[in-house]
Amino acid sequence: MFKILILISCAFLPLSQALAKVEVRWFTVASLVLEDEETKIFFDPMFTRAGIQHWLNISDLRSDETLVASVIKEHKLEKVNALFASHSHYDHVIDAPIVSKLTGATFYVDGSSEIVAKAYKDPKIKTERIESLKPIKIGKFTITPILRTHAHIRSLGITYLYGPVREDFDFGFYDYRMGETWFYYVEHPSGNILLDQGSEPFLNSIHSFTNKVDVVIQGVANRPDDEAIVNGYTGALKPSIFIPTHFDNFVFGFNPKSEVSYLPGVKIHELLEKMKKAHPDKKIIFPKYAEKIELFK
Ligand SMILES: [Zn+2]
Repeated sequence: MFKILILISCAFLPLSQALAKVEVRWFTVASLVLEDEETKIFFDPMFTRAGIQHWLNISDLRSDETLVASVIKEHKLEKVNALFASHSHYDHVIDAPIVSKLTGATFYVDGSSEIVAKAYKDPKIKTERIESLKPIKIGKFTITPILRTHAHIRSLGITYLYGPVREDFDFGFYDYRMGETWFYYVEHPSGNILLDQGSEPFLNSIHSFTNKVDVVIQGVANRPDDEAIVNGYTGALKPSIFIPTHFDNFVFGFNPKSEVSYLPGVKIHELLEKMKKAHPDKKIIFPKYAEKIELFK
């Protein structure tokens, strides 16, 4: 009897592992939670918005802890295992230190985001340094951070928010410099995901890992043209699911109950129509605030 039980459990173990459910939730801008039954990973949490007083540099721009705590409570995110910020502009890094403090997540940092995290001087904010191409195991997920470049923000001949975050970071709006920019190759027994908040594809970098992914999650702001998205990762890596991010306006206050306000000129629905036409065999999923999207069953 005992032998039969062992045989049955051995036979079912690989199957049950392969069928672990993986879901993603989008929380405006580039904020995403990726999870299976045992692990939650937060990418680019951003609920705090910058207002005119921050743009004018007359007020500190810090994470709004009360707001972050309310989102965490509402969406049952009290325990998060890990978190990443794809670069140190405020719309990607602003709430990461406080999410680490409130959820126990390890914030995987580079030199710039480490300076932002340490500026809070709170021992509850846990950080660990990442290295390019060095995989990080978190539960059943393996996350490989890969360096990429970020388009320059230029106006009137001036480049803004460029270079590493300085050691004298002091929560000024213009202190949130870009730092290094990362994207992620995520492996899980149920499938693999490419997560890149940049719109220009870095195909050579990802091809050194794989020629095929199951899911592409990609930022579409500032894309050079629609083809970068239509023919980029989705053309080359043949995912069965594509999910766009970073299409909504983050200049206004955070109000998930209101209609989505789009970034000026982002033309997300035109892009998605083109995607559907070019890839009729793929699921093109337009994310809705905090709604669970099942990636693998
Ligand atoms: Zn940026």
